[in-house]
Amino acid sequence: SELINIMGIPFNNLSKQDLIDNITASDTGKNFIVTANPEIVMEARNNLAYKNSITKSDYIIADGIGIIIASKLLKQPLSERIPGYELMMTMIEYASKNQKSCYFLGASEEVNQAAVRKLKEKFPELIIAGHHHGFFKLDDESIVNDVRKTQPDFVFVALGMPRQEQWIANNIDSFSKGVFMGVGGSFDVVAG
Ligand code: UDP
Repeated sequence: SELINIMGIPFNNLSKQDLIDNITASDTGKNFIVTANPEIVMEARNNLAYKNSITKSDYIIADGIGIIIASKLLKQPLSERIPGYELMMTMIEYASKNQKSCYFLGASEEVNQAAVRKLKEKFPELIIAGHHHGFFKLDDESIVNDVRKTQPDFVFVALGMPRQEQWIANNIDSFSKGVFMGVGGSFDVVAG
């Protein structure tokens, strides 16, 4: 899709449906999606390691009205806002309907377990490859090994910014497939 540069970050200009269609069409491929808000853009400007992490992604999409407004001011309007939480829920629904497995990495132990329980209630068919809380050192190999051995189709990473994108960028090369996405506080929202 078309790329729109907002303060040095190349955003993909595509709708949620096009994004879902693209990632689900590449069945054996890997996809790293960044849902970026103004905080992420600012972090990337101030932290080169973080900028390098997010530019390893396949898609950077506008999560939040701030980015949409910036794109309009730059006279290169992005077509729509794609909230990360909404995108995660749409992907989970897709996974549940298509026998794709999901791994939930992040948040406190309590929130992580509650979120998984709520998702099982809402999507009884959902295949949960595994789940783990998010309080570990970024270079902890046992976490990446656990995710890898379950071969998930979707990996939702709720470690907050910048850790979640750094974890994905550091580890994506050791996976053979999967859609990887940082989801911020979304597990807290699901857990209620
Ligand atoms: N979190 C985590 N490990 C950490 C820090 C944060 O798992 O080391 C979790 C936190 O419990 C929360 C999520 O990351 O569920 C998102 O945190 P926050 O709302 O601060 O991030 P944002 O949505 O602003 O990126």
